Amino acid sequence: MSDITKAINAIKEQLGSQLCIMGHHYQHDSVIRHCDITGDSLELARKLSDVSARHIVFCGVFFMGESAALLAGPDQNVYLPAPDADCMMALMALPRMVRNVLEYLNGQGRRILPLAYVNTTLALKAVVGEYGGAVCTSANAETMLRWALQEADAVLFLPDKHLGRNTGKKLGLGPNDWHILRCNGHGLKEPESQPLDRRLLLWPGCCAIHARLKPGQVQTARETYPDCRIVAHPECNPALIDLCDGAGSTSYLIREAARLADEVPGSTLIIGTENNLVQRLAVQHAATCHILPLGQAYCPHMAKVTETKLLDTLLAITAQGAERQAKPVQLKTELCPPARLSLLRMLEVCG
Ligand code: SF4
Repeated sequence: MSDITKAINAIKEQLGSQLCIMGHHYQHDSVIRHCDITGDSLELARKLSDVSARHIVFCGVFFMGESAALLAGPDQNVYLPAPDADCMMALMALPRMVRNVLEYLNGQGRRILPLAYVNTTLALKAVVGEYGGAVCTSANAETMLRWALQEADAVLFLPDKHLGRNTGKKLGLGPNDWHILRCNGHGLKEPESQPLDRRLLLWPGCCAIHARLKPGQVQTARETYPDCRIVAHPECNPALIDLCDGAGSTSYLIREAARLADEVPGSTLIIGTENNLVQRLAVQHAATCHILPLGQAYCPHMAKVTETKLLDTLLAITAQGAERQAKPVQLKTELCPPARLSLLRMLEVCG
C-alpha cells in the first residue's frame, strides 16, 4: 500500500461519519477505491439525500460538485479535489445565449420548454428552472423528454445534440420532428431560415470524448469478434448507436456487463464509453467475460482528480482553522432557487 493510500485511509478513519467521499464511474481506480459512494450522475444525485456527513468530497467534474452543493444541507460542505476539472460539453451552452434563444422561441407563439442534461453549469440550470424546464440524466432522458413533450408545444434539449436525438428516436420521433439549431455568439443564426416549428429543438453541443468513437469502429469490431455484443452510451453519434446491439446510460452499461458475464460465460462485450469504466468492468468480469473498449475515449477532465489531490483535499479539511483551509464549492445565491427547481423537477418526475 502506498503512503498516499495509507494517509487517505488514516484521515477517513479519523473523520469517520463526518466524511463521505463520492465518485463518478469515470474516475480512475486509484480514486474510486477510496469512495464511499460511486455512481452515475443520477445515482449520485439521488444518494446525496441519504448522506449526513458534514464534509462531502466529490470526485468528479465541476458541474457535479455544483449539483451536489445545491442539493446538500445547510450544515454540509462539498469539496472538489480538482476544482479546475471542466466539462467541454457543459461549457458549450452559455446561459446568456440559451436565454436569448428561449426568449426568441417563446416569442413566436409556441411554448418551448428547456430540458437540460445534468452536464451543465449552475447558471444554465437556473435559466432552465426559470423557464419551467427540468434537468435530465442519460438514465432518465427518455422519461424526462416524454414529460417535457407533454408539458409544452416543443422542447429545447441541451447541450447534447446526440443524446437528444438518440432519446427522441426511442420515443418514435423522426428526422422531420427535430432540428439542430444553428447559433452564433449571441443566439440563433438567421432564425427565419431554420425549421423552428419542429417538436424537438437540439442545442448544437456534444461530448468530445464520446464523439471520438466512430461508426467504422463498430464495423471493425464485428469483423474481429463476429459473435460479440456491442453496447454504447447515448452521448455517441446516432449513426454509431444505430449499429450497436444496445445503448444506454452508464448504469445500463454496468448492468449489461454483469448480465452477459452471468448468462453467457465466455462471450465478448464491446463497450463504447469512457475507458476508465470499461477497464474496471473488464477486470471485474475477467473470469467469465471478455470486455473491451470500442475505441480510445478517456476524459481528460475527469482525470484531473487524482489520488494525490484527494489526499490534499482531505488534509486541508482536517486542518480547518489552522494554516491550511479547504475551500468548499461556493454557489451564487441568486442562482440557487431556480437551479434547484430544475433538479427537483427531475427528481419529482422520476420518483
Ligand atoms: S466524458 Fe464528456 S460529458 Fe463527461 S465529463 Fe468528460 S467531457 Fe464532460
